Amino acid sequence: MGRKTKYFLKNYLLNFGFKKDKCPAYSLQETERYYRFGTNVRGRNIIFNIAKTRKLDVSEKCVLKNACKENTHTLLCCYEVREAGPGIPLFRSSKGFNVATYCKDVKGGIEVDVGVNLIDEVFYHLSAMGEYKRESNREKIQPYYFEGADRTVNEPLVDDFYNLFTDAVNTVLERFDISEGMQRKLDGFNVSLTHDVDAIKKDYRTSMKYLSFLVFTFARKWDFNAVRRMYRYLSHDSDFNRIIDIVHMEKGFGDKSTFFLYSNVVKKGLLSRVVEGFVGPSYDIRDSSVLADIRDVFNEAGFEVGLHSSYPAALNYELLEEEFDLLKRLSHNTVISNRNHFLNFSLTRTPLMLEKAGIKCDTTFYYNNICGFMRHKTCSPFYFYSHQDNRIVDVIEIPTVIMDSTLFNYLSCTDEDAYEKSIEILDKVMERKGVVCINWHNETSAPEYGWYSTYQDVLRWMKDNGACTYTIKEVYDRLTSEG
Ligand SMILES: [Zn+2]
Repeated sequence: MGRKTKYFLKNYLLNFGFKKDKCPAYSLQETERYYRFGTNVRGRNIIFNIAKTRKLDVSEKCVLKNACKENTHTLLCCYEVREAGPGIPLFRSSKGFNVATYCKDVKGGIEVDVGVNLIDEVFYHLSAMGEYKRESNREKIQPYYFEGADRTVNEPLVDDFYNLFTDAVNTVLERFDISEGMQRKLDGFNVSLTHDVDAIKKDYRTSMKYLSFLVFTFARKWDFNAVRRMYRYLSHDSDFNRIIDIVHMEKGFGDKSTFFLYSNVVKKGLLSRVVEGFVGPSYDIRDSSVLADIRDVFNEAGFEVGLHSSYPAALNYELLEEEFDLLKRLSHNTVISNRNHFLNFSLTRTPLMLEKAGIKCDTTFYYNNICGFMRHKTCSPFYFYSHQDNRIVDVIEIPTVIMDSTLFNYLSCTDEDAYEKSIEILDKVMERKGVVCINWHNETSAPEYGWYSTYQDVLRWMKDNGACTYTIKEVYDRLTSEG
């Protein structure tokens, strides 16, 4: 099977499947015009011919109507959409031609012809082709979105292609009286609540970091809300270790979450030490109070701990391994996930390092300064791809889509704006039945910040709208248990 087809199917089948049947996909020889693969459902052989088309200079909006039902799909295509071959219409473009057709009894099976280049569309976004090219040109990719950085649409585009494919499969099956179709493995609307633990004490490093954001915001916008926040921060003197408070608050909502903890191992090399001295979290995981909290988190009905790897560990395998080993050793429990501090990440290096260390899930691939889908273009977990090795990396990214510091520090939101923006993003996830992460830091539940009233409002909204919450390991187990 071609590497792009394999990557499409691996990620699609990570998220979708039949309730009862397995869905074995098998390879077929690609042609110049088509990516090809087949599957067998209840004795029916279905072959998919997916158009190989050229990349467009400017993405095009494409509206497709299901020829057998009432529903439509709106896609933003980076690759040309072409007319499907002759057959029974499945989808029609608003431009008036058939975009997908199917034929019965072709060599004892059903052959589906799709004119939307699903394979390249999904491969382009999930393998982060644009970012890979920039990094290969020796550009240091910062975890910040800068205008014009090849990504201008803040939508989970990949899921729209997944949903089109699912609709195509299910419409064909219905025509053959097979009513149980392909569906999301995690049905409904799913969120993994996570908390980076950057501080457990109110110390000078934490204070400098937050106050400098506020000073900068005030100087840039004359925003008196920043002055109010400064006053609030300076007029309290709270304990910043909020882990157990958060656990109890979330249990009140019937939720559970994952806490990312920092393994403070001694850094080798002057540069790493200086960088950590300025930006690193300021606690020691070996502190008895932190260790007691880790034990309590695991003991509190299904809560979980992951690694908050240090900034230099994103590019230093020995350090990453040492930090991961220390957390595993001290927590006496299964640890499978990671998010880097400040979201430091190299597409060409970090996924391979995570895989080598045995970390199964990551949640780092997100821009600090913008909520949503800008970096990964999806609201579904996906495997990383190594362009230099031409292979799928055995690490699943659970896409982060909202972070408290994005809202309050980088975007200087008021509580109301932060809530509105969060709901706007989660609405898009709900519409696609996605599985995403949100991140509210541990220390920001202290009255110094006051960011947790918004978090509680978001949890309440999620509950009212039927969201299910999972820890990272639960997402991993549920998605991978069926192969
Ligand atoms: Zn952090």
